[in-house]
Amino acid sequence: SDVTFSVRNLWKIFGKNADKVVGTDLEKADSGAIKAQTGATVAVRDVSFDVRPGEIFVVMGLSGSGKSTLIRCLTRLIEPTSGQILLDGEDVEQASEQRLRELRRRKVAMVFQHFGLLPNRRIIDNVAYGLEIRGVPRAERYERAREMIGMVGLSGHENSRPGQLSGGMQQRVGLARALAVDPQVLLFDEPFSALDPLIRRDMQNEVVRLQKELDKTAVFITHDLQEALKLGDRIAIMRDGELVQVGTPEEVVGRPANAYVADFTSDVARTSVLTARWLMREAFPEEDTDGPS
Ligand code: ADP
Repeated sequence: SDVTFSVRNLWKIFGKNADKVVGTDLEKADSGAIKAQTGATVAVRDVSFDVRPGEIFVVMGLSGSGKSTLIRCLTRLIEPTSGQILLDGEDVEQASEQRLRELRRRKVAMVFQHFGLLPNRRIIDNVAYGLEIRGVPRAERYERAREMIGMVGLSGHENSRPGQLSGGMQQRVGLARALAVDPQVLLFDEPFSALDPLIRRDMQNEVVRLQKELDKTAVFITHDLQEALKLGDRIAIMRDGELVQVGTPEEVVGRPANAYVADFTSDVARTSVLTARWLMREAFPEEDTDGPS
């Protein structure tokens, strides 16, 4: 199959009237009106997109725009209200519990904002943990864990406890644990937003490096536009549960779909234009690219 995830007309509505809300007339009402009429929260509203193999697909939007809800629906950590999710062409909604567990184990691994490490177990136990619950024999899982710890630059820390490591190092452990199970898709839920800016930049570079090296598909959630532009092969911009644009960084900055995206990206767009002008001046110092001064 040429898509990893295919999401079709996905809705997720929280509240006891959720099932009644997805219908004909409310399709056109805005989320505020639905909330006022029924008390239900429309967290994800009629969202469709495809994630292609090998790409970093970033879901970006302000806090409360529906990003986490969307990513949790992908693995059916929560039930969508309606819509369809295909993982490698297989309908996740139709899968039995057992098949779903198998799909989750074989195909996806998640990296969380607060690392999700077991505090009382060593780094190597934490990295081996996902393999342990998948029934990989002990010797094999520790060998693999050691290899992954090396891959994320933490060799020598195998026997430390999470609390002895900095935030950035702990998130490297989170990354190693996710990579250890060799998933087809990595899901990142704001993994770096608790980190200092410089550490955060290191981790972003690390993700780009590992993703290239290991050829993984990644779905990456962030509220940070700079991070989205840096990491994303394509960016999906969400607003109030809706997907307002899906495109490459160049497209969302250069050809915003509407005023909201334009406003969101205006600082970056301005910086890009200034950089381009500056580069032109450097490259062609004789030509007066700005006209008479
Ligand atoms: P984001 O990840 O972009 O910050 P979320 O997906 O967490 O956004 O939330 C989207 C909307 O859904 C918000 O209005 C939030 O309050 C609401 N929401 C999320 N989870 C629940 C829940 N379990 N119950 C009720 N409302 C929820």
